[in-house]
Amino acid sequence: MWNFSTDPEFQEKLDWMKEFVHAEVEPLDLVFNEPGHHHNVTDRRAMAAVRPLQQQVRKQGLWACHLTPELGGQGYGQVKLALMNEILGGTNWGPRVFGCQAPDSGNAEILAHFGTEAQKEKYLQPLLQGDITSCYSMTEPQGGSDPRVFETTAVKDGNDWVINGKKWFSSQARWASFIIVMAVTDRDAPPSDRYSMFLVERGTMGVNIIRNSGLAGESEESGAHAYIHYDNVRVPADAILGQEGKAFDVAQVRLGGGRIHHAMRTLGAATKAYEMMKERAVSRFTQGSALAQKQSTLQYIAQSYVELLQFRLLVLHAAWTIDQGDKESGQIGIGSAKIMSPRILQDIVGRAIQLHGSLGISNELVLGQYWIKAAAQGLVDGPTEIHEIKLAKRLLKDVKPAKGLFPTEHIPTRKAAAYQKLKPYLEMSKEDLA
Ligand SMILES: Cc1cc2nc3c(=O)[nH]c(=O)nc-3n(C[C@H](O)[C@H](O)[C@H](O)COP(=O)(O)OP(=O)(O)OC[C@H]3O[C@@H](n4cnc5c(N)ncnc54)[C@H](O)[C@@H]3O)c2cc1C
Repeated sequence: MWNFSTDPEFQEKLDWMKEFVHAEVEPLDLVFNEPGHHHNVTDRRAMAAVRPLQQQVRKQGLWACHLTPELGGQGYGQVKLALMNEILGGTNWGPRVFGCQAPDSGNAEILAHFGTEAQKEKYLQPLLQGDITSCYSMTEPQGGSDPRVFETTAVKDGNDWVINGKKWFSSQARWASFIIVMAVTDRDAPPSDRYSMFLVERGTMGVNIIRNSGLAGESEESGAHAYIHYDNVRVPADAILGQEGKAFDVAQVRLGGGRIHHAMRTLGAATKAYEMMKERAVSRFTQGSALAQKQSTLQYIAQSYVELLQFRLLVLHAAWTIDQGDKESGQIGIGSAKIMSPRILQDIVGRAIQLHGSLGISNELVLGQYWIKAAAQGLVDGPTEIHEIKLAKRLLKDVKPAKGLFPTEHIPTRKAAAYQKLKPYLEMSKEDLA
């Protein structure tokens, strides 16, 4: 949309990416298009088409760029990663082709930080190479945004841990080689010490998928989001990731810059809807003129442009503050981006659907999928309301109460002080002013 890169060599890479995604990745979305298909690394036909593309990405030095150089990344800062993710945002297969798909990207970071050598050898390299996929299993049927309602437990039994409980919306579990499961290990501890994280390998006895829920509009049983019953699942002592009771410290590692990348992918999708809207405006004639001649269409386009620009600057600013090492501003920026992501997509996609009429809401355009994606954006990784509460608390943290009875900006109070300050001038005689 707008060129922000000041590094010509990197800009060349972005230009290559744009062309490559359009020519090579978008066709994958059209053909391998089952729900969650881009996570299904067991589909040998799809993967046969994907692997040569992954090779080309590697050759360009653009594979898994979110990783630190020790893990094979380029050491790109968040601004560069954000610009790359914007390009991937309009596609489903893009992140897999470029080695940065969720939840594998975050789970790889957990393994790199907390995995044993054996776990790393077995899972980290294949995950980084895109040969396997993984799952993150935290949400429970009785609630996701408040861990205090979680009931899944892990109890020590000899050298093992035994996990029991039910988890909801564990995406990609059906294809995952391992699942990272959050469980209560000390019910009486404060929430910050109550939960631990475990690595559960595929095929472990007692991991029962009750069903694979889909998103609205997807057919029953084809979904990618597993409802799982962990029924006396026995794992060894070293399956615990990080310290006992410190699941949130482990979870924190996987969020890192990921939220910036997701926001930029949302922007990529919203930009695609905006471009579709513009094309429709000049293509469709009704009631004697092109849609582009109607005032409401012009308002849709102008509003969408301004909103896209605002959102893009917001997210890139958040990325830039992280690159500057300004953690507090980074957190404020990430929270703001999380809050705006569903709104921006919903508003712009809503207008694009409206301008395309019945075709817009049909399954012959991508807009209906984006509509669901917008709603999902307000839930994945915590509901918008919670991000709003956290952001507002952060913003209020250092704010002091007004010193007097009235607010600091109370005009009569300030006026009295101003009169006092300017009294010598107000009391100047005609002679003084002459
Ligand atoms: C596409 C998709 C993929 C997902 N993948 C995974 C996954 O791989 N692994 C996993 O563990 N989870 C996953 N989730 C689940 C996600 O983390 C939860 O949906 C989220 O945490 C919210 O939990 P919930 O759905 O139980 O909603 P609830 O916690 O029941 O909240 C419902 C609503 O209540 C309101 N609300 C809640 N708390 C407050 C509050 N404090 N103040 C005001 N209003 C409030 C909000 O409107 C909220 O949307 C996924 C979700 C989606 C949509």
